[in-house]
Amino acid sequence: MSEFDAYLFQKLEEVEQAGLRRSLRVLESAQGAEVKIGGRSLLNFSSNDYLGLANHPALARAAGEALATFGTGAGASRLICGTSRLHEDMESAIARFKKTEAALSFSTGYAAAVGAIPAIVSPEDVVILDKLCHASLVDGARLSGAVIRVFPHNNLEKLRSHLEWARREHPQGRVLVVVESVYSMDGDLAPLADIVSLKEHHGAWLMVDEAHGVGVLGAKGQGLVDLLGLTDRVEIQMGTLGKALGSAGAYLCGSAILRDYLINRSRSFIYSTAPPPYVAAAAQAAVELLETETGQGLVTRLRDNIHRFAEEAGCESPTAIFPIVIGDEREAMDAAGALLEAGFLVPAIRYPTVSRGSARLRVVVTAAHSAEQISFLAKTLRELD
Ligand SMILES: *Cc1c(COP(=O)(O)O)cnc(C)c1O
Repeated sequence: MSEFDAYLFQKLEEVEQAGLRRSLRVLESAQGAEVKIGGRSLLNFSSNDYLGLANHPALARAAGEALATFGTGAGASRLICGTSRLHEDMESAIARFKKTEAALSFSTGYAAAVGAIPAIVSPEDVVILDKLCHASLVDGARLSGAVIRVFPHNNLEKLRSHLEWARREHPQGRVLVVVESVYSMDGDLAPLADIVSLKEHHGAWLMVDEAHGVGVLGAKGQGLVDLLGLTDRVEIQMGTLGKALGSAGAYLCGSAILRDYLINRSRSFIYSTAPPPYVAAAAQAAVELLETETGQGLVTRLRDNIHRFAEEAGCESPTAIFPIVIGDEREAMDAAGALLEAGFLVPAIRYPTVSRGSARLRVVVTAAHSAEQISFLAKTLRELD
């Protein structure tokens, strides 16, 4: 073993000792309620494909047609020669769906977050984040060089005191509050109406990541911001195209000026090759599907499945994410192992994705599950208890 590999091996051993070693699991089938791993068929309760669109014929058809016409690659950054009609059309569809003036897409949600925050704030400014914000938002805040303040999850009093502190200590600086609408590992909601009032009272701006809200909340799945009628009071909304929207990438939406500004200042947009046009076509088909009765049916079916699981498993969630907190990292791994034995793919989520000692099973219910599949999981979980 080279000295380099020996060093890495030693580091990996430490991860292993802590019960935090991760490895990849290879799927031999498409995303869906049932997946194949190692020749075994498993019921998949781990995906963020909330509406079952990742393998939906409407999206596959749109992507296939775009693939035939526009090929596999975008060739360059959007600003060089990579912007396709399909990117523009998809962004218009998203802006319409989200009821904002404009939207700009990125190759991933991670890229959107690290592209947005440093474009908006600088070292003389302040970013205030919820403690449970996704790593991409934390990294975006760090990359901006702004002063960072973190408030305990959904703690409005602490948010208020950070806002007061920022106004007092950085009177010239801009203040950006960053939250999610639905927290990815807990499935709970942000008290968005109160957060909007607070940030307005203190003259701050707000960015809301709707990665797990879109497709799940709101009349047609437009997310929590729309459901609460707050669209015009949130400066930046973010969402991903790879979760409920069944494609890949992400978007930031808000005013038309925000879009122009990001095109000029967002480094992960400027210095990165555009996603292939067929990916945009699939995302656009997803948004358009949600505006039809078929799409509405999927959103309703997801809600029915959420209620069914909540009732039968004896737990509650306002969204499709059900955290079953176990605590100890190894015990969580054992529980996930037992479920795997029983034929279920339910991941154990450990540090550093969640805080130390709060390891959990993360069950995600989707529109693609049948009533029987959901009952079967609820029954198995009760028996494991
Ligand atoms: C998944 C996720 C992201 C990152 O999006 P990708 O498209 O997967 O890179 C950002 N924010 C939240 C809250 C997420 O759950």
